[in-house]
Amino acid sequence: MCFIMVGCKYVADIYPVQFVKTAHPLSVGLVLVGTAFFLSVEMFLIVPMIFDTGGVMYKLAWLVAVFIVYNVLGNMLACYRTDTSVASLPRDRQVPEPEEEHLWHHCDYCQTLVPPRSWHCRLCNCCILRRDHHCIFTATCVGHNNYRYFFWFIIYLTAGTFLALASHVLLFLINKEMRRHYMLFHITNAFSFVEPTRKFDLTFVWINLIFVLNAYAFTFSLVMVAYQIPTIYLNTTFYTQRDSQYNRGLRENFGTFMGSRGVWTFLSPTIRSPLPHDGTQWETRKPSATICEC
Ligand SMILES: [Zn+2]
Ligand SMILES: [Zn+2]
Repeated sequence: MCFIMVGCKYVADIYPVQFVKTAHPLSVGLVLVGTAFFLSVEMFLIVPMIFDTGGVMYKLAWLVAVFIVYNVLGNMLACYRTDTSVASLPRDRQVPEPEEEHLWHHCDYCQTLVPPRSWHCRLCNCCILRRDHHCIFTATCVGHNNYRYFFWFIIYLTAGTFLALASHVLLFLINKEMRRHYMLFHITNAFSFVEPTRKFDLTFVWINLIFVLNAYAFTFSLVMVAYQIPTIYLNTTFYTQRDSQYNRGLRENFGTFMGSRGVWTFLSPTIRSPLPHDGTQWETRKPSATICEC
């Protein structure tokens, strides 16, 4: 994973324009095609072999699948469409107040002063408010204004791929006929005293290929979520993971990213949840309580 990220960053630094033109369509296309593929396979192939297609459980599975896909694609689109650059600020906020001027720093690319925690992105060619990182899967920078959408995007990607993986395990456990089509069945049988059953037909190839792709998609999403844990826990960013100077406590940090509606933003990207500030004024960590020696 790190190898891929370092490789991408290396190419992006040398050929930023070509990287954007190539990596963005490929990555966004991968998410769209992957979502459509896993949704179709799950709901028309795997789940009908687990639940009766006329029953309540199958309808419930459709409801969950549609909710997850809506939030994956909705948050992905909202992340892309939400401008989090310094230029998105009202004109009078793009220059510092006299008392906060010492906190702002100069961007050599934009040739102007920018707020604290704002950094220049060579791919977006502008400065981003509380820049976290440039995400090729949402084709934009993730920063102060759109972090909420990025967060739910990867959470729902992880949830979707996990449930798809769980459905394979369930099918393996309850459907004796299909069990023989999984590689796992043949591996466990090869080590037992029971005569191993060999049945390598086309269904065997497809079901195992889907299973492996699903396992990879889940691992990839889970790693993306894992990278965000320090970001929320310490109120830091992807490139400054050990910097805890803005840590205001988990509850306050979460509110800074998610806005006034907090965790309820999980329901839909359309829920309005105003952020506590415009991304130019950052308070450092709360001073620890002093011990009274009297
Ligand atoms: Zn800049
Ligand atoms: Zn960017």
